[in-house]
Amino acid sequence: MATQDTPTDGVSFAEPEEWRLIRTSLDEFVEREVEPLEEELGETWSNPRLRHDADGRWVDEAIEAVETVRQKSAEAGFYAMNIAEEYGGEGVSNVTWYRAKRHVASHGTGLVSHVLAGPEGPKPLLANAEGEQVERYLEPVVRGERSTGFGQTEPGAGSDSPNMQTRAERDGDEWVLNGTKQWITNAPYADFLQVFARTTPQEEAGRYGGITCFLVERDEYEVGSLNNAVGSVGMQSEVHFDDVRLGEERVLGTVDGAFYEAMGFLSLGRMELGAEAVGHADHLLDLGTEYANSREAFGRSIGTFQGISHKLADGRATVDAADALGLRLAWKMDAGEQAIRDASSFKYVATNAYFDVADDVVQVHGGNGLSEDNPFMDHLQLARLLRIVEGTDEIQLNTVAKQMGVE
Ligand SMILES: Cc1cc2nc3c(=O)[nH]c(=O)nc-3n(C[C@H](O)[C@H](O)[C@H](O)COP(=O)(O)OP(=O)(O)OC[C@H]3O[C@@H](n4cnc5c(N)ncnc54)[C@H](O)[C@@H]3O)c2cc1C
Repeated sequence: MATQDTPTDGVSFAEPEEWRLIRTSLDEFVEREVEPLEEELGETWSNPRLRHDADGRWVDEAIEAVETVRQKSAEAGFYAMNIAEEYGGEGVSNVTWYRAKRHVASHGTGLVSHVLAGPEGPKPLLANAEGEQVERYLEPVVRGERSTGFGQTEPGAGSDSPNMQTRAERDGDEWVLNGTKQWITNAPYADFLQVFARTTPQEEAGRYGGITCFLVERDEYEVGSLNNAVGSVGMQSEVHFDDVRLGEERVLGTVDGAFYEAMGFLSLGRMELGAEAVGHADHLLDLGTEYANSREAFGRSIGTFQGISHKLADGRATVDAADALGLRLAWKMDAGEQAIRDASSFKYVATNAYFDVADDVVQVHGGNGLSEDNPFMDHLQLARLLRIVEGTDEIQLNTVAKQMGVE
């Protein structure tokens, strides 16, 4: 006779008490620490076009506001709560981290986006830190005191990143690093970068072997032109390394093994980004529903027109489906699975759902949807961008096809 599964053995979407407490304290934190700062900054914050100078570099008060939010969030125990307790995090599960990322994103795209660690924060690769690296790099990033970035993409190698041209060669006890990266998030403001370089030729080490990750301090690399992506102006830049000499203590993880080590964490990055997409889409669906019920045309609320109500209902259905995929992915990761196919499916579905919702919610708002005073076009740009970063749509589908055995 079949026995009844307990919720933990079987399928459960129940929200445990621990998560409900975190959610309440996150909301209190946003209200107490983030919203007043946004109000103080006024238009500098609310209008992304005023956040940067003519070249795209963020103005000092915007950078300071981000640093303040990051550090206060770390002090309150939120910022890097998924990192192990031994390094100063809270060691929460992937399911809780997923829910936290989704929930914070459902507040919108403002300063609140900096409450939880993103690309500037501690990624599991940094948790490979050993010896003095822990004190100098990992722990200060977990505390929100230092920020970092992840340097992989190059002018000639994006999706095909193992073809990178950046090289590090041994010279006595040191490594000498040369090359150029581009699109590196937080590079203009970071205290140090984690830089991928080829250390053994592909012919010897294979496509994914022969790549090493180096910790490179801010005064050792040159920030080149900003790569101003629409929707993320000022956040990414080129980085140049010109005969940078690094001791063995700057190797993060194993020599020649960085690509394999990073691949082990791909699912987490995709889960985080998809969770943000789901949260932002939730936020937009709330705003769209409110507007559809209050805006009148032809003597009735526009929500009574099926052309409007179906846009919102279609968005709700696809975002709910994405959310279920995201929770399943996080649950599998907590069970110790790499969940490569689930991670690609989720990232693809969630970011496309967000993009479709953002487009539809612009439409629901009519002319107001296009207004610079409203956040809708900013969401549409961000949603478009999320379909490129952390593996493009096509790369996610390639991964799903490969995992399915489609050759
Ligand atoms: C806002 C932003 C932030 C970023 N942050 C970082 C960062 O912090 N660190 C970092 O290292 N990089 C970062 N990147 C770079 C990002 O990871 C790359 O842009 C992305 O991987 C795509 O590479 P690419 O731009 O070179 O495009 P390409 O790889 O040249 O691709 C161009 C097109 O060809 C398609 N394509 C390529 N190969 C295949 C294939 N095998 N099958 C089917 N289609 C294919 C792609 O899907 C895409 O549509 C960032 C980019 C942006 C825009």
